[in-house]
Amino acid sequence: MRRAVYPGSFDPVTNGHLDVIERARKLFDEVIVAVAQNDEKEALFSLEERLQFLQDSIGKIDMVRIAQFDGLLVEFATAQKASAVIRGLRAVSDFEFEFQMALMNRKLEAGVETIFLMPKEEYTYLSSRIIKEIARLGGDVSSFVPPVVSKALVRKFAG
Ligand code: ADP
Repeated sequence: MRRAVYPGSFDPVTNGHLDVIERARKLFDEVIVAVAQNDEKEALFSLEERLQFLQDSIGKIDMVRIAQFDGLLVEFATAQKASAVIRGLRAVSDFEFEFQMALMNRKLEAGVETIFLMPKEEYTYLSSRIIKEIARLGGDVSSFVPPVVSKALVRKFAG
């Protein structure tokens, strides 16, 4: 069983994340989408909301599991018997941080490889941060995120 963990804040999940999940699914028998309980990052949506958005968007897809984790990613991956961590690379700007994380994770746990996947070009400019910014300013984000997220953003910033 080849298993991979795809970690992130998913605050909220976007079509870019979904594209990466689809690609990862073609390479692995099971993909665990792992939502970080990141205390230092101020999230717009609660952990429960972020998990629910994923559940509503990809919960029915075969061999994709949604989980939450805190603490060290490599420890979570090892506990889940995953041999790889998936990360998305959009642009050169992602590279430096991702490169550093990948090498550090390898130092911590040599048995877990990091695999970078590039999304479809049209998603390369998508980030959760930019989606939140557009939605906050009243812009329409419905073509960039799953419907459940689009609705939640409208509700969040209504009035
Ligand atoms: P984090 O807080 O760990 O950066 P994110 O939820 O922002 O978590 O992203 C999780 C992963 O998905 C990261 O590897 C990020 O680079 C990747 N990612 C985010 N948006 C996209 C996108 N539009 N296309 C491809 N990968 C993406």
